[in-house]
Amino acid sequence: MSEEKQNVKEEKLHFFQSIHFKIALVFALLLLIAFQIVGAVFIQRLKSDNLKTFKQRVELSSYVDNSLAQNLSSSDTQKANAKIRMILEDVNNSNITDVQVVDAKGNIRGDNDVDKRSLVGQRTTDSDIKQVLYNGRTYSKMTYDRSDNKRYYISITPLFSSTGNTNAVVGAVYIRASLESVYDSLNNVTAIFATAALIATVIGLLLAIILSSAITRPIDEMKKQTARIAKGDYSGQVHVYGKDELGQLAEAVNNLSVRVEESQEQSESERRRLDSVLTHMSDGVIATNRRGKVNIINQAACDYLDVNEEDTLGKSILDVLDIREDHTLHDLLENQEEITLDMSADDHDQILHAYFSLIQRESGFISGIVCVLRDVTEQEKIDRELRQFVSNVSHELRTPLTSMRSYIEALNDGAWKDPEVAPSFLKVTQEETDRMIRMINDLLKLSRMDSGRVKLDLELVNLNELFNYVLDRFEMMLEKDNNDTHSTKSKNYTIKRDFTKKDLWVEIDTDKFIQVIDNIMNNAIKYSPNGGVITCRLLETQNHVILSISDQGLGIPKKDLNHVFDRFFRVDKARSRAQGGTGLGLAISKEVIEMHHGKIWADSVEGQGTTFYISLPYHEYDDDEEDLWDEN
Ligand code: ADP
Repeated sequence: MSEEKQNVKEEKLHFFQSIHFKIALVFALLLLIAFQIVGAVFIQRLKSDNLKTFKQRVELSSYVDNSLAQNLSSSDTQKANAKIRMILEDVNNSNITDVQVVDAKGNIRGDNDVDKRSLVGQRTTDSDIKQVLYNGRTYSKMTYDRSDNKRYYISITPLFSSTGNTNAVVGAVYIRASLESVYDSLNNVTAIFATAALIATVIGLLLAIILSSAITRPIDEMKKQTARIAKGDYSGQVHVYGKDELGQLAEAVNNLSVRVEESQEQSESERRRLDSVLTHMSDGVIATNRRGKVNIINQAACDYLDVNEEDTLGKSILDVLDIREDHTLHDLLENQEEITLDMSADDHDQILHAYFSLIQRESGFISGIVCVLRDVTEQEKIDRELRQFVSNVSHELRTPLTSMRSYIEALNDGAWKDPEVAPSFLKVTQEETDRMIRMINDLLKLSRMDSGRVKLDLELVNLNELFNYVLDRFEMMLEKDNNDTHSTKSKNYTIKRDFTKKDLWVEIDTDKFIQVIDNIMNNAIKYSPNGGVITCRLLETQNHVILSISDQGLGIPKKDLNHVFDRFFRVDKARSRAQGGTGLGLAISKEVIEMHHGKIWADSVEGQGTTFYISLPYHEYDDDEEDLWDEN
């Protein structure tokens, strides 16, 4: 059975994929975003405040505006211009780069910039100033001067007549102020803020790395431990750093490791037990998955089916059992019937019974099939023999009974009155009765031997002497037959003896052994032609004595040679029956010889004769033993 091992592939984790990195990154990004938002709001607010203050500082006081308006209303242009110049020179604001005064007609009346004084008296070309003069509303804007790369604030304020009609625009003041100081201070603040944010982010990142490593270190240890568990190494323990969730998880992993080890050991010992049960079972066992593919097969099943374990694993059970033609997997799943497999080959018989059952989960899900193979060859053989035996016995008894019934019927019908036929009819019924009694006695003998109830009455006998004695009896019977002129003449024969001179002492049950020789001799006489020679031999080999009886009869066909010792077997049934044979003589002889640990067999050439051999184990007594024997 192949061991199922979990293949655990440990994937290499990139630093960028790790939780360690992700926590640090998220932390740093959060800090950055927070600083961004705070910074943006703060700087925006600072900028608008600064700009507001700047604009307030840049505006001229209303006193200046009024005096400028007065001067613009004056008819003495020369004088007014001089005054305007004085007023503008008083403007003391370092941010203001240019202040220009324009009258209602658009003529430039004064400028604080020395370089632009030449413009005084000329008409202004600035459309914004013209617009303000026209609609009398203050105008301001921020511009960027590409020539010097600076931002400027431009404010154009209309001047109204301080006398009479207040709505009359008498001119406008154009102020241009550099915004650089505002932006410089804003840039400074932004730079300080950015530096602070950067430092805070770096510190935050470092803290995040330290913090995340405190989280990921136990996780990493647990990951390694679970990988070891998966590989079957349960020795390690995860370090429990604290009582927090990770600590509890670490304890759970340690517990899990112990539990997995226990259940692994348990399932391993179960597996070993199952393996040993399967290996030592005399029945074959095949288990499949739910698709019918073999995943377990024990040695007995391999032996029965004459296959290798490797060749069958993964194959369909239908192919392994070679039942695809007559059965489908569905049949096996549905019916789980018992199947008889005839695996007999030329040289041996083998009949297997396959019993099927399902491997089912509690939910009813079928996860496989188990097939148990049992070798029933012997059982089948015994059953067949028993059936054959019963049929033989019935047949053997029916024949004499049928013939007796017809004779008795004839006698009953009036033949008893006929002195000619009645005695012969009665003789036949008596002969048939005798034969049936003989047969039943033979069957009883065999049955006693089968059940082991027959004990041998062993004695040390000189086989030489015993064989001579039996043959002498046959010769005497022949002589008596020949002298008795009134008896019906039976067959004539000659007995030839070819014996070793040596006395052969063997331990046998004399009566039973004589019955065996009688039976073989009777057969030899029965199946010999009239006047045939029956040759009896007795010889010894190193460990055996061999006794043989050869006749010159019709012989036994080769194919029947082994069967003549079977119960009721007769080469020629009618002939044997006619001669009063029961077909059990040789079967009894075989049982008797086997009880003596000997062997009996036949050899024959059809038409020329048959030889029956009996061999018995023989142990030669050495001289010392013989001396002892003699003394006794
Ligand atoms: P039976 O009572 O018929 O003789 P046995 O068991 O003694 O029964 O013999 C079985 C069969 O073996 C006989 O029917 C006969 O066909 C055959 N057989 C036995 N001995 C001989 C022999 N010497 N020559 C030829 N056939 C023999």
